[in-house]
Amino acid sequence: MPISDHFAGSSDVGFANEVAERVAAVRGRIADAMRRSGRTDEVTLVAVTKTHGPEAVAAAWQAGVTDVGENRVQEAESKMVATSAIPVRWHLIGHLQRNKARAATRFALVHSVDSDRIAAALDAAAGEAGITLDVLVQANVSGEESKGGVSPADVPAFADRLHLLRNLRVRGAMTMAPFDAPESTLRAVFSGARDVREALRECGHPATVLSMGMSGDYEIAVEEGATHVRLGTTLFGSRSQSERGRSEA
Ligand SMILES: *Cc1c(COP(=O)(O)O)cnc(C)c1O
Repeated sequence: MPISDHFAGSSDVGFANEVAERVAAVRGRIADAMRRSGRTDEVTLVAVTKTHGPEAVAAAWQAGVTDVGENRVQEAESKMVATSAIPVRWHLIGHLQRNKARAATRFALVHSVDSDRIAAALDAAAGEAGITLDVLVQANVSGEESKGGVSPADVPAFADRLHLLRNLRVRGAMTMAPFDAPESTLRAVFSGARDVREALRECGHPATVLSMGMSGDYEIAVEEGATHVRLGTTLFGSRSQSERGRSEA
């Protein structure tokens, strides 16, 4: 389907324009945060389109965004079909179930590897697909029980075991900060994730990615070294109440 077909109605054009404005504003804020922290590298904006339709993917692409994130495999798959003409890179950012491992190999980067079981299932699926799958280790730096992720103390041993999985390439670390936490807590969590990436490097993994920062905290995350920020609400508006907080892939 041509990209323009996603903008059949004038309301879609309005939505696309709005998204373009929001993307521009976010890019400005990211640039400011980088300047404040003296960074000259790059930050990848991952537009989180979960709960929104294919028009959100099209709008992001038209605004110059090349990376989109979804937290559920099934929802992502139908959007991939609907937007197959748009060459975005797909990121899987939500908790993954083993029976979805095969479909997960369609993503450019899986951010949510946090157990041996999931890692083994992804490795097997990648082997079957004949690919090497790029993954991040999700770390639970904040220690909140509601959050997935490997405890930072367990990362070195986990990282060693990941070397045995030849079809996975461990590209870095991902974390989620607590909601509405004071800035000092956010900074502690983000710098803890940086340490996790360092631990992965020390174990010999090609870990350059640091995926952290959401709509409420991405500027601080960039100041703390995020290479990938995952933004939904601030780009596309709020998700409906019933959809909010879904994190199962
Ligand atoms: C939904 C989600 C995001 C985006 O959250 P916003 O606050 O809407 O920007 C980022 N990361 C993960 C893992 C998510 O599930």
